[in-house]
Amino acid sequence: MRPWSTVTRVLTNTEGTRVTGVEYYDQKKERQVQPASVVVVAAWAAQNPRILLNSATDKHPKGLAESMHRWLGLPPETAHFPQARS
Ligand SMILES: Cc1cc2nc3c(=O)[nH]c(=O)nc-3n(C[C@H](O)[C@H](O)[C@H](O)COP(=O)(O)OP(=O)(O)OC[C@H]3O[C@@H](n4cnc5c(N)ncnc54)[C@H](O)[C@@H]3O)c2cc1C
Repeated sequence: MRPWSTVTRVLTNTEGTRVTGVEYYDQKKERQVQPASVVVVAAWAAQNPRILLNSATDKHPKGLAESMHRWLGLPPETAHFPQARS
């Protein structure tokens, strides 16, 4: 548990085949990385796609939730927010 922290990205390995942890910003708005072999995304229906789409890499250029807005019934621009870095 990391109080007053905001997860911004799910991190994956260089092959893009496994999660390796999450990036988050702590109470002091400093970037932190929490290594993990399993990541459960449970930040509510609108925040989940935000985090997953922000998790784009060269292996997953559209993020980790390319079809999530279809299941949510939201247009992509609704679910895609810029990263919260400040
Ligand atoms: C006014 C109101 C009344 C409701 N009444 C009922 C009811 O009577 N019965 C019922 O069944 N349902 C009710 N609901 C719906 C219910 O509250 C939600 O369906 C339920 O809480 C969703 O659970 P969740 O775990 O997906 O999300 P949440 O309960 O929203 O939990 C998500 C958590 O993730 C955290 N979070 C979000 N983004 C990040 C991030 N980037 N990094 C880190 N943490 C993050 C949030 O702070 C929050 O603590 C109500 C909702 C509202 C708004």
